[in-house]
Amino acid sequence: MADKAGPDKDGYFGEYGGQYVPETLMAPLAELTRAYDKARKRRAFQRELQTLLADYAGRPTPLYHAKRLSAELGGAQIYLKREDLLHTGAHKLNNALGQALLARGMGKARVIAETGAGQHGVATATAAALLGLECTVYMGEEDMRRQRPNVHRMRLLGAEVAAVDSGSRTLKDAINEALRDWVTHVRHTHYILGSVLGPEPYPRMVRDFHLVIGQEATRQLKRLTGRRWPDLAIACVGGGSNALGLFSAFSARPEVRLIGVEAGGTGTGLGQHAARFQGGRLGVLHGTRTYVLQDDEGQIATTHSVSAGLDYPAIGPELALLHDLGRVEYTTASDAEAVAAFHTLARGEGILPALESAHALAEAFRRAPNLAPDRLILVNLSGRGDKDLESVREYDLATATAAEAEEE
Ligand SMILES: *Cc1c(COP(=O)(O)O)cnc(C)c1O
Repeated sequence: MADKAGPDKDGYFGEYGGQYVPETLMAPLAELTRAYDKARKRRAFQRELQTLLADYAGRPTPLYHAKRLSAELGGAQIYLKREDLLHTGAHKLNNALGQALLARGMGKARVIAETGAGQHGVATATAAALLGLECTVYMGEEDMRRQRPNVHRMRLLGAEVAAVDSGSRTLKDAINEALRDWVTHVRHTHYILGSVLGPEPYPRMVRDFHLVIGQEATRQLKRLTGRRWPDLAIACVGGGSNALGLFSAFSARPEVRLIGVEAGGTGTGLGQHAARFQGGRLGVLHGTRTYVLQDDEGQIATTHSVSAGLDYPAIGPELALLHDLGRVEYTTASDAEAVAAFHTLARGEGILPALESAHALAEAFRRAPNLAPDRLILVNLSGRGDKDLESVREYDLATATAAEAEEE
């Protein structure tokens, strides 16, 4: 992780990563790599980013000891890294601000982005408004339906939301469209990719912008408990940006167990989940080589999750390597378990988590009772649940109706 696990100079984490893109994107990627490598070493760039993260976005986000819930579960102490309290409601803004600053520095007047749940789209639209950049966000029509409030938010922030009606009309299709736009407008446009995915330099650049999560958390844990290192660190894994932001702080600490939670959806069959380590095979998607859910012919599989942000068939290349090395253990939480964890945190602590984050919580709630009370579990609460109120209501209604039908 961080510098040690790579990537190498060609953007590979072990056998994962790289730059699998059409010829037309090689020059823009080289330009981006040069610009990022220069910016990240420049004091003025880091200072401006840190000022925005503090005064505009609200960093540091709190670390909160969920005392009541920990006591109720009767085991380990659960600490929540409150990325849900970051401006716009998820960790996404750390990266969007970083890349928007970079875009401005590169002289690009326009930024584009893809979005699934809408959180990355909102974060990008926000950063664009802040810095006076033009903004277009690609979003699948299915996701626009599921996440209507975020569509309104983006438009209110001055962004154009471009509906994508190809394929499954979700995140994967939105990325295809964004890449297409970038190829044709590359002179004045920067593509703000929203997770640790895509061709080099995106996986490491997006990770770097999120390292602040784990750096703050270890400091805060030390202040609250006297211990800098938790026993377990748990995060949900869509592309993997909130997970790497947290996990990278423990790269030199093998005693900290790292647990990534994928979307278990409604079952283990292909198409019912988005668990890349349960049936995914080596493949290439969106410019990077990694675990991809695909059928026997190599066609990208459809995926399912109650949370739009985890509903993606590939995983970040660094997380694929960490899987093979055994450094990160992967598990899944089903739709039902995530919704149950959503309710548990809402009633137990007065916090509505994003359904994505609820997957990580489900795993924490599973493990806590089996650990001694002096053990520490650090959970990345990647976002807030306001965007999911409708999804949770629909889910609860559907399960209540199904239960009634069974009784009759
Ligand atoms: C986007 C999102 C995720 C998934 O993305 P990662 O890159 O895996 O972090 C998780 N939680 C929330 C709240 C999100 O908005």
